[in-house]
Amino acid sequence: MGYIEPAPLKDRENPFEAMMSRFKIASEYLGLDEEIYNVLKNPTKQVIVSLPITMDDGSIRVFEGYRVIHSNILGPSKGGIRFDMGVNLDEVKALAAWMTWKCAVVDIPYGGAKGGIRCNPREMSSGEIERLMRSYTTALVEIFGPDRDIPAPDMGTGPREMAWLMDSYSRANGMTVNAVVTGKPLVLGGSLGRTEATGRGVMVSALAAMEKLKINPYRATCAVQGFGNVGYWAARLLSERGVKVIAISDLSGAYYNEKGIDIEAAVQYRDNHNGSLDGFPMADKIPGEEILHVKVDVLVPAATEDVITAQNVDKIQAKLIVEGANGPTSSKADKIIADKGIMVVPDILANAGGVTVSYFEWVQNRLGYKWTEERVNRRSDRIMKDAFNKVYNTSVEYNVPMRIAAYIVAIDKVAKTYKYRGGF
Ligand code: NAD
Repeated sequence: MGYIEPAPLKDRENPFEAMMSRFKIASEYLGLDEEIYNVLKNPTKQVIVSLPITMDDGSIRVFEGYRVIHSNILGPSKGGIRFDMGVNLDEVKALAAWMTWKCAVVDIPYGGAKGGIRCNPREMSSGEIERLMRSYTTALVEIFGPDRDIPAPDMGTGPREMAWLMDSYSRANGMTVNAVVTGKPLVLGGSLGRTEATGRGVMVSALAAMEKLKINPYRATCAVQGFGNVGYWAARLLSERGVKVIAISDLSGAYYNEKGIDIEAAVQYRDNHNGSLDGFPMADKIPGEEILHVKVDVLVPAATEDVITAQNVDKIQAKLIVEGANGPTSSKADKIIADKGIMVVPDILANAGGVTVSYFEWVQNRLGYKWTEERVNRRSDRIMKDAFNKVYNTSVEYNVPMRIAAYIVAIDKVAKTYKYRGGF
């Protein structure tokens, strides 16, 4: 599978501006004080670190790393670390703010943060990535901490990188501190149920939305864009609950079968073919972007940012969009979607199952105890269902789309907490 460089920022919606435009609308509905608006629109802390790394050929390359803490009003800040060539301060700031709203929507006691390093991990050896991760951790050892700021994986990082982070942080502190990071391998204190948590939350919120729209899951069809962690688990869990997934896609293209795609066969194919669906024989191949236009009841964008835009939104035929990915819909497409009467379960709600189970990982680490998978799933399903109902009721109360309702719920919680805590 080839690595596709992200589009240059000028061709994409600036993610910070996309976040701010929704934040502003929700703040107006809430009648938020200007002082509080000004507090929340700026991140609490932004750190840029320069990381000289010895490469395998003996040369030294300098990488730039970021950690932005948007808010720690609700608790220690939480957010992933992204390794990607597209990483820049604006993107990290937007993603950090999204984390604040996401944690507030699902009512877990965390603020929001995000980190990243501009690099192409696919062109680096495991040793180079390890040195980069350890050097980033060492540079930020005063920022991270189980009661301060708790990182997690994001694009380009996974359990392996989190293990290096946990080890470097623990060495610097002279003791094992596994609660400093989540998304760890199970043997280091990772949580059961974490791998599927985001896709599971997508499934729970999709079923809750289908109930409101009176769509019977056993008669419903679905298309899923992206067949990685989130897309695969969302497709699998939805199909286990009767929904017919008729189209899936990844970077190689989209695959359509009106009788329904055998998700287990697709994942086996992907795992045996270098992570790609290219050549998957049990469906017809169609152009990748067509996945968004297939006639289905439910569309799950679970790939990347900014894929549903003002340019292509007209062709969407789904009645319900459940955002597995972060920021898949541009802010300019929001109004057109609302005018078409499509319900959107927004990213900060739909994909919050991941951070919820990350929170459970941190709780288990601090308790020095392990929960069963059944307990993790039961508790995260309940949190997702409660959050969905709260956002849905808010959308009815204010007569606004679910996205704005989710921002209203989140900003209201953070603003009220800020009012009680006060400033200097
Ligand atoms: P992943 O790397 O496991 O999978 C991404 C998938 O999307 C791959 O199948 C890739 O081929 C495909 N893809 C990428 N660009 C595409 C494009 N333009 N068109 C079609 N397919 C494309 O990533 P993931 O962990 O599943 O994350 C997917 C999205 O979900 C991201 O936006 C991520 O920020 C968000 N998210 C992930 C988690 C999590 O727990 N993994 C939690 C919250 C949000």
